[in-house]
Amino acid sequence: MDRASSEGEATRKRLYTVPGIDRSASIDRLVVGESALEDTAQIFHDHFGDAPALIIADESTYQAAGAEVYERLSAADVETHTEILPARSRLAPDRERGDAIAVRIRELDAKSSGSRPVPVAVGSGVVNDLTRYAAFNAETAFMSVPTAVSMDGYTSAGAPLVDKGFKITIQCAPPRVILADLNILATAPAEMSGWGYGDLAGKIPAGGDWLVADELGIEPLDGTVWPLVQDNLRGWLSMPEGVRRGERAALAELFIGLAATGVAMELYGSSRPASGADHQIAHIWEMEDLSHRGEKVSHGACVAIGGLTVLTLFDWLIRQDLTTIDAEATASHAPNWTGLEGIVQAAFANGTIAARALEEMQEKWVSGAVLVDRLEKMKETWPVLQERLKRHLMREPDMRELLSTAGAPVRVRDIGLSPERHRATVRKARWIRKRYTVLDILGEAGLLERAIAESLHDGHPLYA
Ligand SMILES: [Zn+2]
Repeated sequence: MDRASSEGEATRKRLYTVPGIDRSASIDRLVVGESALEDTAQIFHDHFGDAPALIIADESTYQAAGAEVYERLSAADVETHTEILPARSRLAPDRERGDAIAVRIRELDAKSSGSRPVPVAVGSGVVNDLTRYAAFNAETAFMSVPTAVSMDGYTSAGAPLVDKGFKITIQCAPPRVILADLNILATAPAEMSGWGYGDLAGKIPAGGDWLVADELGIEPLDGTVWPLVQDNLRGWLSMPEGVRRGERAALAELFIGLAATGVAMELYGSSRPASGADHQIAHIWEMEDLSHRGEKVSHGACVAIGGLTVLTLFDWLIRQDLTTIDAEATASHAPNWTGLEGIVQAAFANGTIAARALEEMQEKWVSGAVLVDRLEKMKETWPVLQERLKRHLMREPDMRELLSTAGAPVRVRDIGLSPERHRATVRKARWIRKRYTVLDILGEAGLLERAIAESLHDGHPLYA
């Protein structure tokens, strides 16, 4: 890469910097600014030489930005192809579709005499996830042109896809180059920025989940990525009104926050820095293909509701006194592995999902004497953990206010759920990931049902 031209461009155009980006081993260039697309051809050339480009977009994102990328690349004599997918409501993040795009890349590669073709994802969540997966499978680098500040995956290595009905995250590689043009992002539908805000807001309860796992000795905090996300989070979330109005400065903060959490995931090697029970709850609805008014409910909308749910449970938990737990009695009432198999199979009608959930549970499930030890540790560490959670977390009503101002959903009916279905999700969300969260501490302490009954009652604003 041409460092000199990169730095020249930085002073001229890169008004915004993303913390941690210089430590990314995969992302060479991330430009966030107004009119960032003006330099598309130069930047493509700097990073990919004379490679052909394959623009991957859906029908609406091609109109929003894909056509401009096409013209700029073609005008600069880049051999440019397109792969236009159906528009978002019909576009699902299916692994088979990703495989088909990988085939297209390999076909182009076979015909090309020079460098490997470079996929250019022009779109938001699904387009980027499919491209990331396809590029990785076809063993080529890719470039991303985001069209909405709608989710946290632009800089991430993981491609959350649906494989035979089960939501999985496949580790791939982040884009080598990201061009985030604020003029384009500001024209995205306002609700999409609300989804991105919801996705970023979820990092607050996800931080609470990590504190729980840290204090119980299950997964220690990381000294680099914890501050990268958590020390900046409230600042990135500080302009909800501007997000709803599509103001460029507010969208830039939001994009930077989402981009930095993606980098944190890359540096840490898993999604722990950015994803906890809030995302597990959201993944259940994504696997169930949750739809509202004929549209698939977006990831960020699911996370907004998941995050409020988890903060509600945390608000309840921090009022409890776990030092009085009777460890022996609690462990004796807990199901053993065979009992758990029955519970998980009953929770998921789809046998494949139940089997995958049990694989995840094998990693974190404890019973018998090990559970007694875990509960003793809980009792011993509770006063410290309780304080840390109080200090770190935002109260649910405060988060509700922010989300509502940003235009994100704050009631379960905003995403087409009944209170019963919402509560059923809270009961089963912990089964689908090995990651330890507030749902696990509540479950192991024998408190999950009480927490649901006392905090997620019919009068909760989530059910208004
Ligand atoms: Zn997310």
